Amino acid sequence: MLNWDDYHAEDGGNAAVAEPAMAEAAAANLADIQASEAAEAQQNAAVEAPLPETTVEAKAETTADSEVELTPEAKANIDAAAEALRNLNVAAGLEELEMGAARVSIDEKAMINCRADLNQLVPFKYDWAWQKYIDGCANHWMPQEVNMTADVATWKNPEGLTDDERRIIERSLGYFSTADSLVANNLVLAVYRLITNPECRQYLLRQAFEEAIHTHAYQYCIESLGMDEGEVFNMYREVPSVAKKAAWSLSKTHELSDPNFNTGTTESDQTLLRNLIGFYAVTEGIFFYCGFTQILSMGRRNKMTGVAEQFQYILRDESMHLNFGIDVINQIKLENPHLWTEEFKQEAIQMILEGTQLEIEYARDTMPRGVLGMNAAMMEEYLQFIANRRLSQIGLPEQFPGVQNPFPWMSEIMDLRKEKNFFETRVIEYQTGGALSWD
Ligand code: FE
Repeated sequence: MLNWDDYHAEDGGNAAVAEPAMAEAAAANLADIQASEAAEAQQNAAVEAPLPETTVEAKAETTADSEVELTPEAKANIDAAAEALRNLNVAAGLEELEMGAARVSIDEKAMINCRADLNQLVPFKYDWAWQKYIDGCANHWMPQEVNMTADVATWKNPEGLTDDERRIIERSLGYFSTADSLVANNLVLAVYRLITNPECRQYLLRQAFEEAIHTHAYQYCIESLGMDEGEVFNMYREVPSVAKKAAWSLSKTHELSDPNFNTGTTESDQTLLRNLIGFYAVTEGIFFYCGFTQILSMGRRNKMTGVAEQFQYILRDESMHLNFGIDVINQIKLENPHLWTEEFKQEAIQMILEGTQLEIEYARDTMPRGVLGMNAAMMEEYLQFIANRRLSQIGLPEQFPGVQNPFPWMSEIMDLRKEKNFFETRVIEYQTGGALSWD
């Protein structure tokens, strides 16, 4: 069986054997390149030759002299375009901004309900959001970069995995293949327009693309393994432990995805906060953790390492989504302290506890017995540890005092750089990873 390095080594080996043929091919390629460069230069010269006029209007008027024969319909269309441009009111696009065309100052920027021009990225006010955008881009990866060959062989071999291990793979792909779409839809259709500063929007655009990459990664795994796509993609409606989590998340986006919903009152601003806590702290911050831990534990045991590597990159992205969400929630609280009432705090605590309970149910459903060195009771403790983290990250009291993290290796994986393949270097990484933190 080939791993990724062997795969490339084999390419190199063939090339060495076929050297004379390669040299000939290279010479032929070079000739092709030179010929196409010459053709391109000719084309460029033609493009750069001065035109009589460069506007649409002028082009329409000089058509009679040029070689292009315009149909009467095309001539009418070009004339209509020219007429529309003559009548374009440049100020019209600025009317919706209360501050008109004025330059934006830092003091005018705000997380929500801001009326300053959102098209002016600088001056920066929320440097943390911009930095996360930069960091997200630096972590860019694509699912096809991961070799799935070994996973396909393991999956198709009746002896390759136990029934309990197969169940974990199926449930994970079932939940995640739709969960990242729910998150992406919430970002694009609900949250984006309500977050009113361009630094955060820049990160939201990056995050939305990462959600698309994650959905792509799950689809890539499902297709590579030859799983029943209809069954996997409908699990979020058909399998109770999966469906409940999806339904819980969806209940937090319904109100906001109504195009008529707007922030601006205490009640509607709290609705937005509820959505952010529901999606960032619970969906991305709790609902992903049982499945991620199970799949990564499988990878640590050298099984399904391709799927595990995909999940490793996804988890690294997700931990940044989570941290961004926590920063957004805390910044909104800071700018709007009247939203963070005792009653609302109580509601936020309850949301996190509901999410924890649903994830514990998911753990019991996916691990009816001990598997991969873990069991549902250990996962329950881990999820309580995670819940404490989420609560304290948004300034709420921990609800499970004294619980420990039974899976400290999870934080090592999250902090690994992409160039290091965790599942081939794990012994070394275990030894050096102990000091890494969750954040
Ligand atoms: Fe995400």
